[in-house]
Amino acid sequence: MNHDSPMTEIKGIGEKTATLFHRMGIHTVGELLSYYPRAYDTYEAPVTFANLQAERVQAVTGFIRKRPEAKKLKNLTVTTLTLEEFGAYLHLTWFNMPFLKNTLAPGSTFIIRGRVQKKKGKWVMEQPEIHTPTAYQELLHTMQPIYGLTAGLSNKTVSKAVGRALADLNLNPEYLPEHVRMDQELAEYNFALRTIHYPVKQEDLILARKRLVFDEFFLFILSLRRLKEQAEVQKNECPIERTEEASKLLGSLPYELTGAQKKVWKEIQEDLSGPRTMNRLIQGDVGSGKTVIAALALVSAAAQGFQGAMMAPTEVLARQHEASLRELMEQSGLSFSVELLTGSMTAKEKREAYARIENGQADLVVGTHALIQDSVSFHRLGLVVTDEQHRFGVRQRETFADKGLFPHVLVMSATPIPRTLAIILYGDLDISVIDELPASRLPIKNCVVDESYRETAYRFIGKEIAAGRQIYIVCPMVEDNPELELENVVDYTEKLREWFPDPVSVAYLHGKMKAAEKNEIMQQFVSGKIRILVSTTVIEVGVNVPNASVMMVENAERFGLAQLHQLRGRVGRGKHQSYCIFVSGTDNKETRKRLEILNRSNDGFYIASEDLKLRGPGDLFGIRQSGLLEFKIGDVFTDAGILKAASGEAAKLLERDPDLELEEHQMLKARLRQYQREGLAKMSL
Ligand code: ADP
Ligand code: MG
Repeated sequence: MNHDSPMTEIKGIGEKTATLFHRMGIHTVGELLSYYPRAYDTYEAPVTFANLQAERVQAVTGFIRKRPEAKKLKNLTVTTLTLEEFGAYLHLTWFNMPFLKNTLAPGSTFIIRGRVQKKKGKWVMEQPEIHTPTAYQELLHTMQPIYGLTAGLSNKTVSKAVGRALADLNLNPEYLPEHVRMDQELAEYNFALRTIHYPVKQEDLILARKRLVFDEFFLFILSLRRLKEQAEVQKNECPIERTEEASKLLGSLPYELTGAQKKVWKEIQEDLSGPRTMNRLIQGDVGSGKTVIAALALVSAAAQGFQGAMMAPTEVLARQHEASLRELMEQSGLSFSVELLTGSMTAKEKREAYARIENGQADLVVGTHALIQDSVSFHRLGLVVTDEQHRFGVRQRETFADKGLFPHVLVMSATPIPRTLAIILYGDLDISVIDELPASRLPIKNCVVDESYRETAYRFIGKEIAAGRQIYIVCPMVEDNPELELENVVDYTEKLREWFPDPVSVAYLHGKMKAAEKNEIMQQFVSGKIRILVSTTVIEVGVNVPNASVMMVENAERFGLAQLHQLRGRVGRGKHQSYCIFVSGTDNKETRKRLEILNRSNDGFYIASEDLKLRGPGDLFGIRQSGLLEFKIGDVFTDAGILKAASGEAAKLLERDPDLELEEHQMLKARLRQYQREGLAKMSL
């Protein structure tokens, strides 16, 4: 077995299980090994009820005195049991596990383990694990990997497969040059790989993680350099001069561009008409007005007879861009055609769209990554804009180059990172920053409250709705349990409908809905028909509904602060005063302190780094502050130091051996090729 072997070569993995792994993007043994745990579970000794702490995963010894009760609620069986210890109570709830009634027999003792929560003054645990005391004794003080899962695939299956792969594989030899490893004090590769999946102690885990994070950044930076070299010699094959049409669009806007927008638009115009192909990143916080800049560039391209494409990470966003481009065309009296291309279109619709794209009838094309699939060929592609690019990665440019196309590339990102890091991460791109919000914006008012405030919040929401506004409510997340998450959103919506009866229309949105359904709901929210949208974090990125004035987040303590900041960016996009209500499900002081950071600042990077300071290094596993560039293990925020070190080492290495020709760099060169192959394979999915 080697890194490229298919999953079915692992003992115990048949075709059926392999398909489940495929769904998570794991096709080969190598991909499995770099599917790192999301977090680790350390099994600690059971505590007494007096030592229960909210929001912590804890174990207790449960003496069962009375059989649990099982109730049917719609299609859900809810089993409840109350444990008592010296007059203190702990309330346990399980969903769809009716057999527990028999397992938890009176007179027996179990170790019950789960996240402890305080709800309405009571200690509760939802879906806790149940172990016999002997079984628990064996787990005690071990660290168990927790993997991201998909429906039908259990943590045990993934963990077992990893164990077998590690045991059977001729592991990769160390490929980092000795001097790099020594200088950076990096653990050996195979040790790191084993330890990240099966840590024995915390200190080893920290070393292992550091090594793998370094590798990931190092390989990334080395490949970026190749892209940069290509970009530097790529002559501008799509010269786009200043156009009348762009001025017409500008003139038709109901507002004036901010100073920052003007500056960035000028930089883009210079690129478009300059000697080399444009490769530019626009960085601008949520709501800074990146879309209109993209539209200006697209219109300029179309005016010179080139096609312009705009890619969005989700179907909902693609449709939104399509709508706003059409609106801009109408409002400015321009007659460029706007074509949509997404995965959920019917085969016939797609065929027709392909035809119009190929024969040049389509001037502007908006879509999801369906746009860069092989079946799409452009008539005369001159500009590609990608929105929220961290969902895409920077490499799709190569996909175009492979088709013999050299369009200008404009990348838009709302992830706020300091300039020093941006230069490393986007080494192949020129960077423009929109560091100014439209003046008409009122700052968002924030508050962090507990659950007792919920009714007050609803009354407030009622007033906003009466004033014509719209509302987002983001529902609690349910870790690793998409079924429950769905249940939560649906239940919550039903309760909300009682509070807000007709004609106030309340709808929900969650990740398991079909694309077409999501689009329909989003469309109705955009048009104002739906007044309250209850959702999971699927609305996180890019959605623009300026009339929405309230963002209420339930169980805010379960979210990363950077994510909450993104959610907050969904409101305050129009002229209305907007509000963010973070409802904390716990009265834990630490949690409050964390959430209060959001109150103090609107600066995404500051927020993420303060969050880290409060958490401390022991708490870093499993928290990813950003999905930036989708690194597998490295996090641009938490691992900024390693990122800088990797960048320094890459520069040193390339100075000594620019083409990696030295004998001691051959292994690295081979690994780099493998990395680039993998990256490209993913991009063209
Ligand atoms: P983001 O940068 O998050 O993508 P958008 O481009 O979606 O932001 O813009 C947010 C809102 O701000 C849109 O409704 C847009 O019409 C509006 N907008 C953009 N530029 C300006 C401006 N200079 N003045 C006022 N409103 C603006
Ligand atoms: Mg946007």
